[in-house]
Amino acid sequence: MTAFEPLPSVAGGPAGSWPNRFAGLGGDFFTELPARGLPYPHWVATSPACAALLGWPADWANDAALQVLSGNAVWPGMRPLASVYSGHQFGVWAGQLGDGRALLLGEVDTPAGPQELQLKGAGLTPYSRMGDGRAVLRSSIREFLCSEAMHALGIPSTRALAITGSALPVRRETMETAAVVTRVAPSFIRFGHFEHFAHHGLHEPLGRLAEFFIAQYAPECLDAPLPVAALLEKVVRQTAELVAQWQAVGFCHGVMNTDNMSMLGLTIDYGPFGFLDGFDPGHVCNHSDHQGRYAYARQPNVAFWNLHALAQALLPLLPGEGEGAGEPLLAALEVYRSAFPAALMRRLRAKLGLLAEREEDQALSDDLLRLLAAHRIDFTIAFRRLSAISTDPAQDGTNEALRDLFLDREAFDAWAGRYRARLAAEQSRDAERQARMRATNPAVVLRNHLAEGAIRQAQAGDFGEVTRLLKVLQRPFDEPVSAADADFPPDWAQHLEVSCSS
Ligand code: AMP
Ligand code: MG
Repeated sequence: MTAFEPLPSVAGGPAGSWPNRFAGLGGDFFTELPARGLPYPHWVATSPACAALLGWPADWANDAALQVLSGNAVWPGMRPLASVYSGHQFGVWAGQLGDGRALLLGEVDTPAGPQELQLKGAGLTPYSRMGDGRAVLRSSIREFLCSEAMHALGIPSTRALAITGSALPVRRETMETAAVVTRVAPSFIRFGHFEHFAHHGLHEPLGRLAEFFIAQYAPECLDAPLPVAALLEKVVRQTAELVAQWQAVGFCHGVMNTDNMSMLGLTIDYGPFGFLDGFDPGHVCNHSDHQGRYAYARQPNVAFWNLHALAQALLPLLPGEGEGAGEPLLAALEVYRSAFPAALMRRLRAKLGLLAEREEDQALSDDLLRLLAAHRIDFTIAFRRLSAISTDPAQDGTNEALRDLFLDREAFDAWAGRYRARLAAEQSRDAERQARMRATNPAVVLRNHLAEGAIRQAQAGDFGEVTRLLKVLQRPFDEPVSAADADFPPDWAQHLEVSCSS
């Protein structure tokens, strides 16, 4: 099939029409082209929760849907397109990137606003560079599960509707097989979309993009004296909130390049991500990140760096030139310096079950994190056990499970004494606080070994574990039926490595 022969259209479909407001931006922003689908596709998994967001019926995943979501057909009205963007990768200008293996199919109108549908892994585009336009089953399962897991944790994220697979071989370090993930988000616009036009001095389309984005996703900025500065401030605040949530749940993104930063403050582009097991602030989840640029503890600063790159790209849109012209953008950036620590402290207070705000809370949480780091104590398990702690001396047994995690019991006891005093100071009631803490400190996160278990079974043709794990991850604050889902990682997990290869 040539690149320009349209795909066959299949009748029906769960949505009546497929508006595509992004396409209205015009040809500077994308290339329209048909997907190159998967031969003889099969379903790997679907997310009923994501389908519900779209308002689709329970039986939406029929044969026609399988062909459409594998890139072999379209529903009438879909106009697949790949968008162009650029960006900074690992701190260096990387030039033009773009949707090298993603295609926007169109939008679904929902009560929560329009949601875009995007296929990832449906073939080459003009922006594929050295890539093959494919995604492998392994990384598709990781993206699918983590997108839905993050949403269930209350962390803004692109969603995942489905994975389809095929026997089509794809070369990575070894031979693997191809899959397509259908991603869902109000918009997939990245910092890199703005950087692209700014870098090439294309100020007219740059302005059009800003106008479009503000009108669609940030209309309140139109009331500000400088809508572009108001937009930057909004992105600064959303990004600060997002990264605070990542830090609070022990999530490492792994590849925080500016092309992987969402203008909506969503977690986007799941690759070599990881959740902390033993708490190590210097943890680098991406095996390809030799400098540790995207280490867990560096994420807040990297986000700030990325926001600077975005501000730089927006600069040509401000009136006036020369010294001082960029002041409104610098002021918007400055907001991060207070917004991020405030957002993080709010999350940490919640993790500690504290309602009131007190000066000493910062030191109390810092000191707990220091203790966790000193002994590489499991981050998720420690906070979950903290959620059961009792202030009633008669109930001391409930505290032993937490205390047992610490080699240095005396150091823990000293901290726990301060913590109990702090709880007493706000007359914290055990049952209420424990319930609050269990709703903020998850029992289950998508640790690498959990994903790996589902991947290995799927590679052997059994997709049951993907679906089982999805259900568990959609209720991360409940004690899982299988205790292993919430347990320490097994020894074999120590040797798991995830890299940019996906
Ligand atoms: P990432 O860091 O994985 O988000 O990707 C960076 C850039 O490489 C984006 O422009 C992707 O579209 C592109 N890319 C990654 N993998 C592939 C692939 N297998 N085929 C084509 N393009 C790819
Ligand atoms: Mg990317």
